[in-house]
Amino acid sequence: MTEEAGSLHSCLLARLAQREQQGLLRVRQQRQGPQQPQLQLDGRALVSFCSNDYLGLANHPRVLEACREGLSRYGLGSGAAHLVTGHSAAHQALEEELADFLGRDRVLLFSTGYMANVGVINALMREGDRVAQDALNHASLLDGGWLSRAESRRYAHLDMQALESLLVEGPATQRLIATDGVFSMDGDVAPLPALIAIARRHRAWLLVDDAHGIGCLGAQGRGLLEQASSAASPITQDDVPILIGTLGKAFGTSGAFVAGSAALIEYLQQFARPYLFSTAMPAAIAHATRCSLQLLREQGWRRQRLQELTWRFRDHARTLGLTLTNSASPVQAVILGANLRAVQASRILLEEGVQVSAIRPPTVPEGTARLRITFSAEHTDEQLAQLLRALERIAHDVP
Ligand SMILES: *Cc1c(COP(=O)(O)O)cnc(C)c1O
Repeated sequence: MTEEAGSLHSCLLARLAQREQQGLLRVRQQRQGPQQPQLQLDGRALVSFCSNDYLGLANHPRVLEACREGLSRYGLGSGAAHLVTGHSAAHQALEEELADFLGRDRVLLFSTGYMANVGVINALMREGDRVAQDALNHASLLDGGWLSRAESRRYAHLDMQALESLLVEGPATQRLIATDGVFSMDGDVAPLPALIAIARRHRAWLLVDDAHGIGCLGAQGRGLLEQASSAASPITQDDVPILIGTLGKAFGTSGAFVAGSAALIEYLQQFARPYLFSTAMPAAIAHATRCSLQLLREQGWRRQRLQELTWRFRDHARTLGLTLTNSASPVQAVILGANLRAVQASRILLEEGVQVSAIRPPTVPEGTARLRITFSAEHTDEQLAQLLRALERIAHDVP
């Protein structure tokens, strides 16, 4: 769009009107109670399939109790960045427990996943370097690449040949490959063995953001790296030196972390600007997350339940003739194409008492607007049945 210079007000109104015409305007709804499958949204009781609280820990009584215990021990605000006086014993313990869980030397906490991704890419890459990104990477990885002084380039989703061409092109400088583990809008996964081999061959650094995998995938919940490992060839810290995870999803709390070698973590602690210049997450959240981690390790049934719901959903959706992505994760997408189709489908679901988000560009590529359905271990069989009944209407009523 070309636009003439104008007042701020008229300019913003014109851009908003254009957004609306494209069917891309987003609206917020107010949730009255806790994040759980049975929700109160704008005063309406709904069954929700659009949170990332995969294991159902966001409102777990033990996690809430741990948070209260953390509050009485540490107070609420951290009051400073980690390197000043913000780093508490709870943060330290959580870092050590996460490192132990993931089999890595050390872990560094960030206040959000967005900040972790922007911080890590900026700290590692310099002017003249190149970042190669999967085209469907999370916005925070893409933004991290663009904000860094390195050249950030995207390769076609999962296309290893396109990735290799990006790595060999141009002068030989430092290369970083950045990829989601589980892709957040499609639920499919990065081809780790191929990525590891390519990174080795071109001496590129490999970063995997497993925000949707850790807690959900792998027998012990260690994520895509565990799922893609075999006894004969485990995927180690040497294979994937930079591993990122978030705490706002399967852990049910808030925040994020980077896990890797002692050298990597020490380096990030010195150079990652969102780490240096931002207040530490409240210690009570770190304390509550320690409880989440314990539940995640002890209660393998939550992961099994998630898988069971996922497979039952896929079997049934296929019989309805709906188009699904190639996903074995709790992130499932029903591709509808046009933006307005997705909005219409989401409205029909709402009439049936089911909350599912319509995801449109620029979050996903043009022409691939979709319903994004995510499961929680806390969804009941009856709630799944309600979703499937509502999807039958989509299959019949949305042209
Ligand atoms: C959600 C998500 C993030 C951002 O994490 P926040 O803690 O919500 O900021 C980063 N990467 C991926 C792949 C995500 O899905």
